[in-house]
Amino acid sequence: MHQTQAVRPTPWAESEDIRLLRGVATAMVRLAETTGTESLSRPYPEEAQQALNDTVLACLLLKADPPESLPKLVEWAALRPIDGWTFTLPADAIRPGSLLLDDATRQPTQLCYEWAVDAEESTALSERPFMGTAATRCQEEEYPEAYQAFRSLLIRRPVLTYRDLVTLPSADDGLLGPLGELLHDIYQPAPASYLDRKRRIYTACGRCRTLLHPTTTGGMWCERRTCQDRDSVRPGREFRADDDGGVHLLIGPLRQWVAAPGILEERLARRLVKCGADVELWPDYGAYGMRVRLPDGTTLAVEHKDWASPALLGRRAAPPLSGPPYDRCVWVVPAARLREQPTYRTVFERYRPSPSPELISDRELVDTVRKAAGPRLSGVDTTSDEPAEGLF
Ligand SMILES: [Zn+2]
Repeated sequence: MHQTQAVRPTPWAESEDIRLLRGVATAMVRLAETTGTESLSRPYPEEAQQALNDTVLACLLLKADPPESLPKLVEWAALRPIDGWTFTLPADAIRPGSLLLDDATRQPTQLCYEWAVDAEESTALSERPFMGTAATRCQEEEYPEAYQAFRSLLIRRPVLTYRDLVTLPSADDGLLGPLGELLHDIYQPAPASYLDRKRRIYTACGRCRTLLHPTTTGGMWCERRTCQDRDSVRPGREFRADDDGGVHLLIGPLRQWVAAPGILEERLARRLVKCGADVELWPDYGAYGMRVRLPDGTTLAVEHKDWASPALLGRRAAPPLSGPPYDRCVWVVPAARLREQPTYRTVFERYRPSPSPELISDRELVDTVRKAAGPRLSGVDTTSDEPAEGLF
């Protein structure tokens, strides 16, 4: 059943510095989505100009050298760890050495996306407007299968040609029909910064299928942490730049907040089913990540949250506002993340405004299901035959 809990105030003291860091992160995400962070052209997006002005002012007040131009601000974001800027931030808000842009590609880091969506007013950079529209349309037509198909499409096919965009809504018995128009908003022409200019080729990641980005040293870079953790990049399908009306890429907020966690959710769901749970992904038009019914009858509302910053994640801790009932609400973080950052749980706890959801690792969730299955599962092989990335 849904629980009502008293909400304690979050201990995040709003300060000029927090607002400034959010502003710079927002500017970097916006630049990456529009002109690209390398080939800057005027007029700059409003957020970028504002972030530059605010940073210059903050530096002057502290008698520090300011970034003289937007390219310089981009350089700071790619080369200067956040703890080396002029910000005064709570001690546990940032891990030392964290950057807003990847230094070899000038693309936003996951932390940069997390700071950008921390601002109330930055819903344009979040997945919510698009996923909300998709849910409402499918709800109106009482067509949950369309919502599920849409969600799967974003996870499995972050790259589409223009021809795909036009033909997909009528393919598969028109399953995506009610959302055909929306596809043109959420898949945009792939930015030129991803293009291999010599060969006129875009290359997808062989693991997660989003586009790989060329690096300054002639290599390739995948924006997903689970791909970066592997020894080498695995190039996948190649798309010729001009074929089939041109290559389109799912927009950043949906890659970051729907496609990337979706891969982890689907993988975790398969593992939980193997251990004896019943799993429904994105129930009630995506009210929450997955509903897991344990073999002992307990029902969990689960969200996969592979966040870099436990402070920013903690600030958002809240149970789902709607969706089917459940007994416990849990947010799952990869066990690897918790090993990497031993203070992750403590920092999350410090910043959370509400005691629900509980924070557990993916490994702990699998163990909970196994325990609930008890001896019924003896003799069943629950070891995964899937690659280990993302799980444990
Ligand atoms: Zn990848």
